[in-house]
Amino acid sequence: MEVCYQLPVLPLDRPVPQHVLSRRGAISFSSSSALFGCPNPRQLSPRRGAISYDSSDQTALYIRMLANSEIEVSVSARNVRRLLSFQRYLRSSRFFRGITVPNSSNILDDDYNGQAKCMLEKVGNWNFDIFLFDRLTNGNSLVSLTFHLFNLHGLIEHFQLDTMKLRRFLVMVQEDYHSQNPYHNAVHAADVTQAMHCYLKEPKLSESLTPWDVLLSLIAAATHDLDHPGVNQPFLIKTNHYLATLYKNTSVLENHHWRSAVGLLRESGLFAHMSLENRQLMESQIGDLILATDISQQNEYLSMFRSHLDRGDLCLENANHRHFILQMALKCADICNPCRTWELSKQWSEKVTEEFFHQGDIEKKYHLGVSPLCDRQTETIANIQIGFMTYLVEPLFGEWARFSNTRLSQTMLGHLGLNKASWKGVQREQSGSADDVDPTFEEMDSDILPQEPRLS
Ligand SMILES: [Zn+2]
Repeated sequence: MEVCYQLPVLPLDRPVPQHVLSRRGAISFSSSSALFGCPNPRQLSPRRGAISYDSSDQTALYIRMLANSEIEVSVSARNVRRLLSFQRYLRSSRFFRGITVPNSSNILDDDYNGQAKCMLEKVGNWNFDIFLFDRLTNGNSLVSLTFHLFNLHGLIEHFQLDTMKLRRFLVMVQEDYHSQNPYHNAVHAADVTQAMHCYLKEPKLSESLTPWDVLLSLIAAATHDLDHPGVNQPFLIKTNHYLATLYKNTSVLENHHWRSAVGLLRESGLFAHMSLENRQLMESQIGDLILATDISQQNEYLSMFRSHLDRGDLCLENANHRHFILQMALKCADICNPCRTWELSKQWSEKVTEEFFHQGDIEKKYHLGVSPLCDRQTETIANIQIGFMTYLVEPLFGEWARFSNTRLSQTMLGHLGLNKASWKGVQREQSGSADDVDPTFEEMDSDILPQEPRLS
């Protein structure tokens, strides 16, 4: 079965979110299964203009891009699938084929079992175990946690949100993460959202943030990696993926996460009762937050942050300054894994390395050139983690602690130091030397051209 959908004419000056396209008759984007299921990843995107599914068996689904001339689709199939994102299409197709998927996303507050409920009472603790919470909620950690936080922060009441629409929105968000990704899945999104909540509670922030700021922060955290394909930007660029072309090889993934989030916001109608002006402002500001998570832009944000701290001119009564701090907070939340306890941090390290190596395996198989950090023959978890901590995490959290010198910041730096020492111990056992620091992250940073400081 091969089904294709034509992309409509884009009426906006910016690329339209895939989910918005799906409302108009186009279906959305590639996935990691798409990338890895195709006989040759280079064949994924030779042309633009349509995306197709090919299901040669019940488990292997992949997407290929075809020329418009090849597009033929039955009306009935289109009727069913046009409204669905790729992730939801997978689920619905299983449903229509009578395959029961043991997954419940219709969890309600009353359905939490005792332990999950107990955990939510401590949702602001830095040692919150998101893996355990995900198991206790039957894989619904992102929905359960984010709904709880909306309630806890009084956002439902303040913005007069329809709880059914909110839940529907969160379920769509959770389902559009790829559960087959070892790292970039809904549990990572839930973990980042929980970390963001911890930062929002920090005195400097909680004293000055408005409900609007909190709302944007939680939505951005929950959606910041939406529909992540499980491969990085260089992979998308070298395989000529349509997203790389669409976003001109710049913050390709982050732009896609943002557009996907906007699509779901519009589709859910969660803020349909707000003015168009406010909804547009919300979409734009969520974009600023999500785009800040592009790790290749770290130097730019960090130098801006450092300059402000040196000058002591951050004024959180100023909305632009608050917004900048929320960008920094989301950046911290996104890469806070090494600042968690060793038990949690180690699991994240293993998961992200598994995803890197999976990409490397594909690159080797199709002679695409193995990306840095992705070669399982030459890299180790310890080397990757030590480089990551040295060049990215330590500088960022060092500045964050200057801004917010609290017990939480000290706790995070404490874990960071201990975890680095643990990985150095592992490295020593493996190589007999503890002085190897993978320079890849430093090289990545040095690729970034200096840019004028700006508040965005
Ligand atoms: Zn992330």
